[in-house]
Amino acid sequence: MFKIAVAGTGYVGLVAGVCFAEVGHHVTCVDMDERKVNTMKAGVSPIYETGLEELMQKNDKLGRIHYTTDYRTAYRDADAIFIGVGTPEQPDGSADLSYIATVARQIAESVEKDCLVVVKSTVPVGTNDKVEQFIQDFLIHDVKIEVASNPEFLAQGSAVYDTLHAERIIIGTESKWAEEILTQIYEPFHLPIVSVNRRSAEMIKYASNDFLALKISYMNDIANLCELVGADIQDVAKGMSYDERIGSKFLNAGIGFGGSCFPKDTKALDYMARQHGYELKTVKAAIDVNKEQKTLLYKKASSRLITFHGLKVAVLGLTFKPGTDDLRESASLENVPLLLDQGAEIFAYDPVGAENFSKVFPEGKNRKGTIIYVSDIEQALDGANVCFIFTEWGEIKAVTPERYMQLMKTPLVYDGRNIYSIKDMQEAGVEYHSIGRKPTI
Ligand code: NAD
Repeated sequence: MFKIAVAGTGYVGLVAGVCFAEVGHHVTCVDMDERKVNTMKAGVSPIYETGLEELMQKNDKLGRIHYTTDYRTAYRDADAIFIGVGTPEQPDGSADLSYIATVARQIAESVEKDCLVVVKSTVPVGTNDKVEQFIQDFLIHDVKIEVASNPEFLAQGSAVYDTLHAERIIIGTESKWAEEILTQIYEPFHLPIVSVNRRSAEMIKYASNDFLALKISYMNDIANLCELVGADIQDVAKGMSYDERIGSKFLNAGIGFGGSCFPKDTKALDYMARQHGYELKTVKAAIDVNKEQKTLLYKKASSRLITFHGLKVAVLGLTFKPGTDDLRESASLENVPLLLDQGAEIFAYDPVGAENFSKVFPEGKNRKGTIIYVSDIEQALDGANVCFIFTEWGEIKAVTPERYMQLMKTPLVYDGRNIYSIKDMQEAGVEYHSIGRKPTI
């Protein structure tokens, strides 16, 4: 079993660290955020992910996982150091590599024995070469350091399951030594390993994510056309899904993709292409369609209502998808300020995301409107003039069409996730607008 250090305890780093411990490795998770480290030391997960806290507590009891801000001690004698820090989007669309650079510097200052540095973060092609050079330039001790790429494919909301049951592990290495260490680290997972060179591994991550983003934008584009020509996107998607070349996943039309990955990874690949004098037309189209899609329902509602001023607006779902507390690039973050600027009185519900959202939009008077966070969906709907659905949480899907009719002052629903059948909403008497389907009026 290996002595592993993980830099960064976000969705990727913490889940990887905990899963490495789960299969028997000795893991130290490092984060610069002291508050986060203290939370984890107390056995509490700083992020919402099904099953994560249980595995943290189990492996803590077994003495296989530790948390610290002291990177020197953690990196000093590690066999492998996995980097899982953020690579956020910069204003020009490129990936911000400053967190990666800081960790590289910290590694160079700390390692006292031969060590494999593994970049799990999503980084532009060629970054691993630079990280390796950077570490070697700043190394203090005379040790062997090599960098490998091991991009992560987990989806938030099912991160632990995805890690333990990954469809493939991609390892990108430049030597047999590195390939063997990574293969041995992953051996206890019993998962398919695809071994390629570092640059191909880096590209596999972007190519995969951007392909999925493209699939979503394509379906959204077709959905918008369906509305214009009188077709139903759900029937269309069903018909398409029987073709194995297309597959049945990622065919749901909706209010666009969000989260910490698809938006930034599409922009980063587009930027990377431009840097090489190439125009990545397909990915650019995916970005453009998504941008329009995010405020599509707001625009539809705006043209249906004269104003939102003084209207009670129920907002159901704030996170970018169900199963996570992550708000990054969520549809709610785009639409709520538009509604507030119009003077809306928003009653917002989310089973786990309200606390994070209230840090961005504090409760009470906000811009030209107000926002109140409620812990009960019915409270949000009670007396509402209009309702927006931004996230398909199970709790929200469980609200029957009849409840909208009974609770709302005017049963007018804009559903960005197509969670109801048109027929059910029609029968209940709800005016229902969704994506790529005929409205009920
Ligand atoms: P995150 O923002 O949730 O977490 C990053 C963590 O790194 C934070 O806790 C931060 O405090 C810590 N950190 C920053 N500098 C540090 C340092 N010098 N030493 C130790 N810790 C430090 O990020 P994330 O969502 O886990 O994403 C990390 C990377 O993985 C990104 O490149 C992302 O694109 C990629 N990725 C993310 C997902 C996902 O679903 N979130 C999936 C696949 C890949």
